[in-house]
Amino acid sequence: MICDQLIQFVDGELNLEQAQEFRVHLAGCEPCRLQLPWEVQIAAHLSQLTPPRMRSIQFAIAVLCIAALIATALLLIGILI
Ligand SMILES: [Zn+2]
Repeated sequence: MICDQLIQFVDGELNLEQAQEFRVHLAGCEPCRLQLPWEVQIAAHLSQLTPPRMRSIQFAIAVLCIAALIATALLLIGILI
């Protein structure tokens, strides 16, 4: 069923011929026309998400920076005392 291609259409995964075929379908299919703006919004939000692996690397770097700051502070306190 061509309605199933809505997400692929939004994600740009259809080839030129399929995309044109879907545009023709879109003109005559109210459910797809109503769903299209939602799918476009969802795709936009999803594209802004950072992949989980990247987030864990950023977290690890943040932990290392904090540990380095604490170690430096302890060293300075040790020197001062
Ligand atoms: Zn449809």
